[in-house]
Amino acid sequence: MSTHPELDCAYQRSLAYLNQVARRRVGAAATRQALLDSLGGPLPVGADDPARVIERLAERADPGLVATVGPRYFGFVTGGAVPVTVAAEWLAASWDQNGAMYAMSPATAVLEDIVAGWVTELLGLPRTCSVGFVTGCHMANFTCLAAARHEVLRRTGWNVEADGLQRAPRVAVVVGSEAHVSAVGALRLLGFGANELVRVQADSQGRMRVDALDGALDRCDGPLIVCAQVGNVNTGASDPVGDIVSRAHARGAWVHVDGAFGLWAAAVPELAPLVAGVENADSWATDAHKWLNVPYDSGLAIVANPAPHRAAMGTPASYLERGADEERVGMDWVPESSRRARVIALYTLVRTLGRDGILDLIRRNCRLARRMATRLSPQAGVTILNEVVLNQVLVAFDAPDGDHDAMTRAVIARVQQDGTCWAGGAIWQGRQVMRISVSNWSTTEDDIDRSADAILQCYAAG
Ligand SMILES: *Cc1c(COP(=O)(O)O)cnc(C)c1O
Repeated sequence: MSTHPELDCAYQRSLAYLNQVARRRVGAAATRQALLDSLGGPLPVGADDPARVIERLAERADPGLVATVGPRYFGFVTGGAVPVTVAAEWLAASWDQNGAMYAMSPATAVLEDIVAGWVTELLGLPRTCSVGFVTGCHMANFTCLAAARHEVLRRTGWNVEADGLQRAPRVAVVVGSEAHVSAVGALRLLGFGANELVRVQADSQGRMRVDALDGALDRCDGPLIVCAQVGNVNTGASDPVGDIVSRAHARGAWVHVDGAFGLWAAAVPELAPLVAGVENADSWATDAHKWLNVPYDSGLAIVANPAPHRAAMGTPASYLERGADEERVGMDWVPESSRRARVIALYTLVRTLGRDGILDLIRRNCRLARRMATRLSPQAGVTILNEVVLNQVLVAFDAPDGDHDAMTRAVIARVQQDGTCWAGGAIWQGRQVMRISVSNWSTTEDDIDRSADAILQCYAAG
């Protein structure tokens, strides 16, 4: 008899799920009401048996699960969890370590130091960088841009942590018109209103136009932050980041790069030209839970100069024990205090795949995205709208009656209903598109071919 039947139950249920996830319907099957009915009910008053709670949770949540961990989920940019990272999460949850500071978990602090070094080396970023282990790229953008805000104001003699933003010198913030909503969301939290941002026109692939940037910079003076993006969430295209950095640095600006998934191109020699010069920026936000395929939630806030990073995030207090300088204080680099040891899964991913395996995963996904485009595009009425330079494919479907947007929406709905694969939609430069993102470690050529066939059948049915 196990001392923890609830853990045995979770283990068995996890194995059963992962062993069949490649064959199950990709989208959820249940309605919201059905899930509320089966999972909800009045507030539990008395105790229940833990193993039974786990067993019922597994059974009742199942129809509401989306097979994002499987090979034919192409929605958003999600990645999947490599099994070794799931195993690491089990261990980490059992250990229940707090990543706030060294004294709370020396192992977690040391793992963060190690992984920070490995990741910056993989990405070709300066070895002096500081790294914060945050929940995702949204919070990575927030963390990096807080460091930027600190530094550009410090250079004018203003201490924004002490004296706030309301009476501070005005900071000009430049973003591309295709900046991800989370970069704007992070800036909003930092006191830079969405309407105050200087937006620079993008080209047909969503890349910031350098000539338009020159014009925008001419209209800015004083403290300046420029946000570039590598990996547009629709097209996968990257801003000409080398040109942006040299122009912005000539104006004394801080350059931040939002590279949730696209930054990983820097690790792959034949993709690195897409992001040439990215290593010269001042800060970088990226995700591990997207292209590195570790479980949610795992993002990285990387800053070239640790001083403004710590100045923006650190919150000293007497009861928070600080040891020797080399003993990492994880909370100095993130907008949180107590926090789970999310680094553990990422550590096992890098240990298991190594540089070769990570590069192979990225290359494979890019190759499979091109394969998807090649399978879809010969069909009359199907248009691939982007240059497939990375892992993203944008597809539009023509309608005989001329209402192409309605047709594309109908195909997306049918694909989601069909369940062979899952793809979502977006409006791209005024047109309804289907977005296909290939970012899962387990996707094969056969998965692409089956999915392309299913998508074309859904189109033919219209
Ligand atoms: C996904 C994404 C984000 C937000 O990342 P989260 O991990 O969802 O917080 C930011 N920028 C880009 C370009 C993205 O693709």
